[in-house]
Amino acid sequence: MKKKKPLYEGKAKVIFNGPEADTLVQYFKDDATAFNAQKKDVITGKGILNNYISEHIMLAIRELGIPNHFISRISDREQLIHKLEIIPVEVVVRNVAAGSICSRLGLEEGAMLNNTLVEFCLKNDSLGDPIVAPEHIFTFGWATPDELETIVEDTLRINDFLTGLFLGIGVRLIDFKLEFGRYGTDAAAEIMLADEISPDNCRLWDVKTNEKMDKDRFRRDLGGLLEAYQEIARRLGVKIPQVD
Ligand code: ADP
Ligand code: UDP
Repeated sequence: MKKKKPLYEGKAKVIFNGPEADTLVQYFKDDATAFNAQKKDVITGKGILNNYISEHIMLAIRELGIPNHFISRISDREQLIHKLEIIPVEVVVRNVAAGSICSRLGLEEGAMLNNTLVEFCLKNDSLGDPIVAPEHIFTFGWATPDELETIVEDTLRINDFLTGLFLGIGVRLIDFKLEFGRYGTDAAAEIMLADEISPDNCRLWDVKTNEKMDKDRFRRDLGGLLEAYQEIARRLGVKIPQVD
């Protein structure tokens, strides 16, 4: 059988053409990277866990009425998705201080923020994903003010929803990263949530113990990443097949 040619290979996923012109296949790899890919490893089974966890969360977000790219799961590692024109801005939502904001602003990890903070970073690995202001986003045409308004509105609703979803399973949603894109090319293009929502791009702490249940286990060499992701899946009620 002829092997499919990837359209794009990223750090955690590979993107292939889908069966229709406006679809893609998103393949979840086991690769783990951190610190702009300076730290790398392979964690067997991580891709399967992220595929199933992200499917579960994207389906729940769809029920909220927020459009997202997920169409269906094809296999343990693949999803069929709508092909979007990705807006090159990472949207980071923070409820509690952790990660880069602590070193940037001298905050203590775990400090509650007075309100939910939404930050924007340019999606550009070679520049180290620098933080940008809405004015940069408009000046350089990455998104229009109307598009950014929709993105922020969707992001805050997703944060409220996911905060409750995770609290219900004994997990604090500390922060996470979203990506959005345009579905359709004309002026009426719809803003859709893209990429994935999984422990790779969220910080998740156990309510009782504050134990980290996310990619910080890899970033900080804490070990037990697979077990933590499995526990998130188990608490969410997501059934994961045996790791290959
Ligand atoms: P990275 O590119 O940061 O290394 P990944 O390994 O996760 O990240 O690769 C997935 C790539 O697919 C990302 O660049 C992401 O922006 C892109 N992507 C996610 N969803 C869609 C979509 N629906 N349409 C087009 N591109 C997408
Ligand atoms: N994040 C992500 N991809 C990125 C940058 C951040 O998924 O390229 C997520 C990260 O997992 C965390 C949140 O966004 O949940 C905030 O990350 P932060 O800015 O603290 O960066 P990091 O600590 O990863 O350098």
